Amino acid sequence: MRIEDEAAPGGGNDGGGAVERRDAVVVGTGVCGIYQLHRLREMGLDALALDANPGPGGTWWMNRYPGARFDSESYTYGFSFSKELLEEWNWSERFSGQPENLRYLDFVVDRLDLRRLMRFDSRVTAARWDDARNLWRLEVEGARPIECRWLFLGIGVLSRPTMPRIAGVGDFQGPEFHTYDWPHEGLDLAGKRVGIIGTGATGIQIIAEIADKVGELTVFQRRPNWSAPLNNSPISAEEMARIKTRYDEIFATCAASPGGFEHIPAEKGFWEATPEERRALWDRLYDQPGFGIWLSNYREIFTDEKANALFSDYIAERIRGRVKDQSVAEKLIPKDHGFGWARVPLETRYFEAYNRDNVELVDVSETPIERITPTGIRTSAREFELDVIVYATGFDAVTGAFEMLDVEGIGGRRLNEKWTPEPLTWLGMMTTGFPNLFTPSGPQSSSATVNYPRSIEMCVNFVSDLMEGALARGATRIEPTQAAEDAWVKHVREMYEMLLLRKSRSWFTGYNSNVEGREIGKVRHIVYNGGGPKYQRILARTAAEGYRDLVFDRGETEARAEAPPARAGA
Ligand code: NAP
Repeated sequence: MRIEDEAAPGGGNDGGGAVERRDAVVVGTGVCGIYQLHRLREMGLDALALDANPGPGGTWWMNRYPGARFDSESYTYGFSFSKELLEEWNWSERFSGQPENLRYLDFVVDRLDLRRLMRFDSRVTAARWDDARNLWRLEVEGARPIECRWLFLGIGVLSRPTMPRIAGVGDFQGPEFHTYDWPHEGLDLAGKRVGIIGTGATGIQIIAEIADKVGELTVFQRRPNWSAPLNNSPISAEEMARIKTRYDEIFATCAASPGGFEHIPAEKGFWEATPEERRALWDRLYDQPGFGIWLSNYREIFTDEKANALFSDYIAERIRGRVKDQSVAEKLIPKDHGFGWARVPLETRYFEAYNRDNVELVDVSETPIERITPTGIRTSAREFELDVIVYATGFDAVTGAFEMLDVEGIGGRRLNEKWTPEPLTWLGMMTTGFPNLFTPSGPQSSSATVNYPRSIEMCVNFVSDLMEGALARGATRIEPTQAAEDAWVKHVREMYEMLLLRKSRSWFTGYNSNVEGREIGKVRHIVYNGGGPKYQRILARTAAEGYRDLVFDRGETEARAEAPPARAGA
């Protein structure tokens, strides 16, 4: 049912066109928003997608720093739901770069004819639930409010950048910016003295890419990260043709693997394998493309501290073998966590960058940064004169983007308050007290821990199938029960307990030293660690059982929506 068809209080509209009406609104036009909008349009709904950016692409619109590229195999990152898209698109590299990734998403938007349903430069600032009319009212910066029945937030998991809490940020006279805000027009770094703070996945990509292009590069590292080679290569026309014949097999493998990749965990147990067998596997994986070194390893690497330490020793040895100055090598080897406790950055000649005369590693855990000055960075040991400062200091991950929106549910309850100190969700996709609000890339879904588009297709299919069934029965309101939400949160917490990553100080555990309340302390359970196949089984069972965790139209907890038919390619 279209909301225009209904009588709103006062005669069916707001009395003068001051409010725009839509059946459904999607906030965000990245990977999640694009597919969600497509599904809503396919359902026959009057749907609109809003984005604060001037174009679609989300993370691939924003992240334009040198070296930005996939560390998912390109052909496992594309949408799998459309044979036409798969057939028509050719990837040029196994791990393609940001410009190509953005071109791909533009291609999808145009091929699916979605652009006319998207509105750009449109920042949603607030969403308020009207409990009497079962509608969301959105405030949009500089535009009319929009009312919609169904609201989808596809606002990204790493879309709220955080600047370091260092005195003097903003005082520097030259260009200084967060990696997320790398100038879109590009920046000529030739001959420049560049300082970069942060050595996460972003910093590691940039450092490796620019080391031989700048005058001098000074890396300010607080804690090193475990990292291993990406092993990228071009994809020839012949290989692309072969990949196209294998797509069904590729996506089936991704669906069966915990991380949503072609990388499948080793079958043998860590302690069953001899030290020689382990070494042979690790040598092989180290030279293979992508996340195999992490995800095709022994399963115990994720759970058993002793096994993890032995593997970490192996990677440390590899680092020592690649860095000439052994005192620098030691600084690049993490000592406070094991390999894979935090998200593993993949690199291309990153460690070799430190063999160059124009690259200096400054360990700011030894000599802390005291302040950013008009001419550079001052540590407790010395002053560094710089031309450009890059803050590769990460994101307020997963929940950060939600905090930028003022979302008010039943009785004016604020989502941000409900989600402090940590998010509480049903399957990561809905939350009690906020009916008709769907978060297909939200906290406690699998989107942050599974190859992103593989997870997004699962989540978008789930919420779309759910809605399709509900709409067929004329439902206008859907909300999870408190009991169902409590059970999901308990499960999410249990999944953390199984893994060594619970001990890490990284965004997986909600840590961010630059955000009040996110410093070292209690784990925030913000991602789902059960893996893609388990998550998909839970979603399928929930649908097959008639969504009995949900209340439809204030009261019915039983199967108001029909279980949808199984979808292919999810
Ligand atoms: P990050 O992993 O959170 O790393 C932030 C870095 O900044 C850390 O090294 C951190 O040090 C440092 N830092 C923060 N505040 C600091 C301060 N005040 N002083 C000194 N150092 C400071 O962020 P990221 O590198 O942007 O990566 C975030 C995530 O984005 C990745 O984990 C990944 O999921 C995603 N990503 C993906 C790709 C890809 O798909 N190819 C590429 C890049 C990023 P501490 O560790 O000591 O806090």
